[in-house]
Amino acid sequence: MEKLRNYVNGKYIEPLSNQYIDNFEPATGNVYSLIPNSNEEDVNQAVEAADLAFPIWSNMSIEERSAILVKVSEGIERRMDEFVAAESKDNGKPISLARSVDIPRAVSNFHFFATAILHFSSESHYMEGVGVNYTTRKPIGIVGCISPWNLPLYLFSWKIAPALAAGNCVIAKPSEITPYTAYLLGEVCNEAGMPPGVLNILHGLGSTVGDAIVKHPKIKAISFTGGTATGEYIARTAAPMFKKLSLELGGKNPNIIFADCDFDTMISTTVRSSFANQGQICLCGSRIFVERSIYEKFKTVFVEKVSNSLVSYPSNPKTHLGAVVSKSHMEKVLSYIELAKAEGGKVLTGGVQIHLEAPYENGYYLRPTVIEGLAYDCRTNQEEIFGPVVTITPFDTEEEVLMMANSTKYGLAGTIWTNDLKRAHRVANNLESGIVWINSWLIRDLRTPFGGVKASGVGREGGWEALRFFTEAKNIFIKYE
Ligand code: NAP
Repeated sequence: MEKLRNYVNGKYIEPLSNQYIDNFEPATGNVYSLIPNSNEEDVNQAVEAADLAFPIWSNMSIEERSAILVKVSEGIERRMDEFVAAESKDNGKPISLARSVDIPRAVSNFHFFATAILHFSSESHYMEGVGVNYTTRKPIGIVGCISPWNLPLYLFSWKIAPALAAGNCVIAKPSEITPYTAYLLGEVCNEAGMPPGVLNILHGLGSTVGDAIVKHPKIKAISFTGGTATGEYIARTAAPMFKKLSLELGGKNPNIIFADCDFDTMISTTVRSSFANQGQICLCGSRIFVERSIYEKFKTVFVEKVSNSLVSYPSNPKTHLGAVVSKSHMEKVLSYIELAKAEGGKVLTGGVQIHLEAPYENGYYLRPTVIEGLAYDCRTNQEEIFGPVVTITPFDTEEEVLMMANSTKYGLAGTIWTNDLKRAHRVANNLESGIVWINSWLIRDLRTPFGGVKASGVGREGGWEALRFFTEAKNIFIKYE
């Protein structure tokens, strides 16, 4: 059985405890590799390496750092097939999705921040007749990056790339459920000439190695993406140590459909925004609100399209939905479908686990599920399910749909379908969320602020926001006389 290792000080090494955890393949339900069960000792060792590397990395010219990160981007691109296959196998996502979205985006993340840093300037504020203020933005030092399993390398690199570009050294932990592409990344960094200790990747459980990263006194900032409950715990732990925190957390996103939209584009995009990556994208629209005059038409066409989606093994190029990420996650999603029924919901399609033929008979496959007839404020419509389950609800007025859309504790993203320009802006303006797509979904420009409001997080990633987060601003004033 293959044993993954930690990447510390530029080398692949065993965890100090020599303990390992099983890594499951969602497509088959089989264990296919072992990953280090790292702990506090491993974090201490990685921090020592990062401490030694920091003066080297932070004093390098921006051009040199940029060139190394461009090479990391190119190195992933060169090994595209290997990364794509690894991501699909580790996560259960369709190989077509790993090829079209996940790995290309990891390539772009490194390239974007490698070049963005060349243009990142600081401010100066002139005081007429008095003097001038200028601001320096220096790297923070050693930072922690902790990421989830749904878009493994995509989200891992979304944090690591700006942290490194800004001149920090990084202790990073991918999700224990999807470690493989992060494991490969170390090789690419070595090939790119990254000095040892600049990036250190530790594998293991959130409750042990993740917790030790959050608590380590020399790690000055934590960039975390994951669930709201974990984010709350991290905030409680790190805030008294005055660490900088960026928290990208859960969502329960509304998809608001008005009768005047372009119906066909809306339908095909809504199938994607509901079920891409088995509904395991924090930006998926899980609560679909449809204006009553087109509700029945929407229901008929949407349910038919969803029922025709192909649920199959991830390496099948025709697969629309692959396996969900783990057995426990599949059971959680199924328990929410039972809850929805108990709350009075009617399952229009899906609602069940399916068993494929051997060797995939024990994989974690769910039929995409559409439920109607639920109150907007029931638990199914308020809590994050994070799987291939959506609810559909009719509405009569703009005020009513905004009230329902804004009724959850979350505020990550929202989608609006309408051809009424004024209404599009009005509803977007009144949605309580960090991101809104109008007549589209998941079109991303890496320069834009990315993140949520309310229980969906604190701070923003992307563009200058990320580079500001990973630097410490100092204002210096000089008097003229
Ligand atoms: P999670 O359980 O919160 O875990 C996220 C990461 O944190 C994993 O690496 C996890 O390690 C680690 N972790 C767990 N407990 C920790 C602790 N006490 N201290 C430090 N680290 C700890 O979330 P998940 O189930 O992996 O991901 C799904 C969630 O992520 C959903 O809620 C989804 O909405 C959210 N998400 C948000 C965004 C966004 O941009 N807002 C993007 C994607 C996903 P283990 O895997 O070992 O537990």
